[in-house]
Amino acid sequence: MKKSFPAICQNNSLCERIAEEISDGRFPHAYIIAGAPGSGKRTIAINIAAALACKDNYTIPCGNCDSCQKILNGFSPDVFFIRKDADKKEFTVNLIRDIKESLYIAPNELDKRVYIIEEAETMNLNAQNAFLKMLEEPPEYVVFLLLCSNTENLLDTIKSRAPILYTEHISPDNIKAHLLKHSSRAKELFENSPEKLDTMVLSANGSIGLALSLCEESDKHLKLRSLVTEFLNAWTSHNLSELDLFCDTLPNDADTVNDFLSTLTVALRDIAVSKCDQNGHLLFFSNFEEAEEFALRVTTVKALKLIETANALKEKIKFYIDIRLAAVTFCGDARKIMIG
Ligand SMILES: [Zn+2]
Repeated sequence: MKKSFPAICQNNSLCERIAEEISDGRFPHAYIIAGAPGSGKRTIAINIAAALACKDNYTIPCGNCDSCQKILNGFSPDVFFIRKDADKKEFTVNLIRDIKESLYIAPNELDKRVYIIEEAETMNLNAQNAFLKMLEEPPEYVVFLLLCSNTENLLDTIKSRAPILYTEHISPDNIKAHLLKHSSRAKELFENSPEKLDTMVLSANGSIGLALSLCEESDKHLKLRSLVTEFLNAWTSHNLSELDLFCDTLPNDADTVNDFLSTLTVALRDIAVSKCDQNGHLLFFSNFEEAEEFALRVTTVKALKLIETANALKEKIKFYIDIRLAAVTFCGDARKIMIG
């Protein structure tokens, strides 16, 4: 049996299934590759495209032949990445029209033409309906790979024609090994302060992509974490005026406040987990003792209420509200939850 997908971390059953389908010539016209952001969906899709083109007899894909090199480096004329503009909320029908224009032109160099559709869950209804038409009767050389963080947003009619492959949650040990192999910043952290690297691995929650970006921005991430700890100390202290002091120190830009709220919801989730499941998986605190320190001072209901408030504020921040006012309102709401 050929060695399959050496560049993909874990995901063994997914890799075996695909390798078999490719070897047997029964790879379907479409797959949905679903998983959390940063969980390797894009890497899997690119490796599938390479595997469909590679003719090596021992490893699938070999990573070295001309086809593999072009695809893995993003230069193949037969592999297309379709994504919505970063500043747009939705993936519109225009992008599907672009695909349609090239759909009936035979591949240039390969036997297949692969369309990798990123953030497929952001396709609006018109786009999904137009895509469905292509999916119903695609030319035999076409393969669609839809990358998707949330399959709930996709029409059932799309899901019934494109099987779903779920990416695996990568274990902390494998994430660490991958980081040390591929990220010079991770190596630097490991040599100078290994505990910081462990914190990044913990915060990545099974996602290699997230772990890599956290390492690149480790200073920023560590700062956010201490901001959250500071907030939790103020919020759970008996002297709630500490919350006002905290509020004055909260930076005024939307991105930082947004990141602060996201990190805070993870910490609050850990506090709730530590109260109900001693074997639960923590994402912010490195151990249960740390989480329990706060869990003793706040009820689960209060923690969950604050998560709701933080998520509501994150939605509002998208619409460019006054950030200072938002921070003050949030601290006020947090105080009400605590004393209520
Ligand atoms: Zn190859």
